[in-house]
Amino acid sequence: MKVLKFGGTSVGSAQRMKEVAKLITGERNIVVLSAMSGTTNSLVEISDYLYKKNPDGANEVINKLAMKYYDHVEELYSTDEYKKKAKELIKHHFDYIRTFTKDLFTLFEEKVVLAQGELISTGMMNLYLNETGVFSVLLPALDYMRTDKNAEPDPVYIKERLEKMLEEHPDADLFITQGYICRNAYGEIDNLQRGGSDYSASLIGAAIDAEEIQIWTDIDGMHNNDPRFVEGTTPVRNLHFEEAAELAYFGAKILHPTCILPAKLNNIPVRLLNTMQPEAPGTLISNKTEKGKIKAVAAKDNITAIKIKSGRMLLATGFLRKVFETFENHQTPIDMVTTSEVGVSVTIDNRKNLEEIVDDLKKYGTVTVDEDMVIICVVGDLEWDNVGFEASIVDALKEVPVRMISYGGSNYNVSLLVKSTDKKQALQALSDHLFNS
Ligand code: ADP
Ligand code: ASP
Ligand code: MG
Repeated sequence: MKVLKFGGTSVGSAQRMKEVAKLITGERNIVVLSAMSGTTNSLVEISDYLYKKNPDGANEVINKLAMKYYDHVEELYSTDEYKKKAKELIKHHFDYIRTFTKDLFTLFEEKVVLAQGELISTGMMNLYLNETGVFSVLLPALDYMRTDKNAEPDPVYIKERLEKMLEEHPDADLFITQGYICRNAYGEIDNLQRGGSDYSASLIGAAIDAEEIQIWTDIDGMHNNDPRFVEGTTPVRNLHFEEAAELAYFGAKILHPTCILPAKLNNIPVRLLNTMQPEAPGTLISNKTEKGKIKAVAAKDNITAIKIKSGRMLLATGFLRKVFETFENHQTPIDMVTTSEVGVSVTIDNRKNLEEIVDDLKKYGTVTVDEDMVIICVVGDLEWDNVGFEASIVDALKEVPVRMISYGGSNYNVSLLVKSTDKKQALQALSDHLFNS
């Protein structure tokens, strides 16, 4: 069995849903769907109005969104019977969303509102398949996808529940399920964070020991640089799990950062494919490395660099421990670290406790903060005994001021910190130098 995940753009219109239906029929697989594109953003907007106690604002967005769905129904289904069923489905979900305009609105209600997008898209796809004679079965994610008290997925529960649910439908042609949504340890509706449908797919893949996890999106695989900022990017055909994880974590939006780990732990290949161009080979992510090759570049925004300089550091054991403990005490993860004999620089992307952190660090040295920075991450098989790749990376960036360089933490990446205003130039220069010359 395979797991096939289709993102928001892939199911973003009636026409796109029909294309997806063609791609998923014929094999008994599990198909994970996101909400139709734009829907989760609208649900966030609705929630925002409700937090601000503005039910009229919320209702305006709700009505506009509902109208769009009624239009999709007219285009997607051909029989009156299924148009009626689909309209009932949509009415049910939008009536439910409207109930939240009348009462207290908290984080709990927001999660319920956010879950409606995936519930609607999967319901619509399931009805469409049934109308076209495919015996598809809906697997409600809220019945098997669960996180524990640390908000981490609970793989044992997920596996047990899913196996049971699959056994209940031996005749099903295929299964449709929701990405993104889950229940938490208290049984409340929750989610796996924005973009989390990729994570759902890989958790499901791990739970059923899938033959392959396919992430279908609007581009032909992982490109060697961010196509939103760089011209002339090309798809990378093969990536190691570690390379893909680094790229996803450092900003390659095509993959949610958490998506790789469950696949890697269970050694399940992940294939990135393009719904608009299904015959394209895309990218295969597996446990195979291609020796000595620089594969791709990604960038992570909104980074803050903090430097702690201490004249007494040279002989001071425990200096680094105190510095790292300070970040730990304020529950702020560190991304990059560089050290010298007199100081240490680190980067964080969560600025929530920045003031307190800086305050505490002043006990240990002089503290300087650089905001609006970007981590540029160059990924590949970069084992230290391959010669030349650091030189080409640094050479590519000879026109760009670089605040930090980090290499050696893994064999898979070199990270560089630059100003966000230099991001586009730095990415383009790396592409020109590393891939296009
Ligand atoms: P989905 O809605 O299917 O989850 P996303 O928008 O989350 O799709 O991810 C696909 C997008 O990721 C692409 O349209 C592309 O703009 C962006 N992207 C960023 N970096 C890369 C990269 N290195 N390779 C491919 N796509 C990338
Ligand atoms: N629909 C959710 C979002 O837009 C989850 C996803 O698409 O992966 O974030
Ligand atoms: Mg995505």
